[in-house]
Amino acid sequence: MNVIGLDIGGTGVKGVIINQDAEILQEMKVSTNISEGREGILRSVVFVIDSLFWDNIPISGIGVGSAGRIDPVKGEVVFATANLPDWEGTKLQEILEEKYGVKCFIENDANTALLGELWAGTVQKLKPDSAVMLTLGTGVGGANAINGKILNGSNSQSGEWGHVILVPHGKHCNCGKEGCIEQYLSGTALTNAVRTETDFSFTHGSEIFEAYSIGNKQVKDVVDRYIDYLALVIYNITVAIDPVIILIGGGLVDSKEHWWHSLEDKLKHYQVTTVVTPASLGNKAGMYGAAALALQHLEEKRGESV
Ligand SMILES: [Zn+2]
Repeated sequence: MNVIGLDIGGTGVKGVIINQDAEILQEMKVSTNISEGREGILRSVVFVIDSLFWDNIPISGIGVGSAGRIDPVKGEVVFATANLPDWEGTKLQEILEEKYGVKCFIENDANTALLGELWAGTVQKLKPDSAVMLTLGTGVGGANAINGKILNGSNSQSGEWGHVILVPHGKHCNCGKEGCIEQYLSGTALTNAVRTETDFSFTHGSEIFEAYSIGNKQVKDVVDRYIDYLALVIYNITVAIDPVIILIGGGLVDSKEHWWHSLEDKLKHYQVTTVVTPASLGNKAGMYGAAALALQHLEEKRGESV
């Protein structure tokens, strides 16, 4: 059985055809057309799926991970930020099922990233029966999985660690609240903090961590606070969920060689004994996970019909 795994983000739409052994048969990506709002984003999505169908490889279903809050039961985008303009309210499952005539399944992109890591990442061999993922990128994503399946919660917000409040009455967040984790632990938050609190104006997290690794005092203060907050959030996750494993993904993990050891020291300080490990699939985790989502559902349906 082959499925399409699709990852929809504010900068790109990426898709793969993948089989049950997690082997990629075909791959396609385009920039997300956000200038025309929902219609533009849908055009990008359709372009990628059409291209994947082009080779006539049999496809049994489509799994999709999208930025924003997703209702996986209704297959709708419940909430989306300005990164995907006018995306909120899109009945994506219905649109894709009508157009392509195969079953379609939708999840939040952090949820698919966790599914991807559990299916095809280095933690796959551990087969953890519970796992939490934090993605540190432009924003902060999060996901919880129990027995290999995403825990969505009653309002599709379980695992939205980026919007757990870290600092009461703190920085304004684009979700409408104040002091959310995303405003302190995203790459954007880190570069903003360095720009306002130091004499440097790095644009990329990797430059900040490089300055940190060579002992730049100004940058060190900002990054030490960042790592302290991250360790505190991880500690809170161990108390709230107590998972077997916590995965840290997102763009900031690309420069982990500069800061991971400091995080490990802080975790010891907070007496965290849970396995905390970097994600291994990078920006392909979402596509793998979207495919895994489709395969999970299709296998369930097959089991029901036997
Ligand atoms: Zn928020």
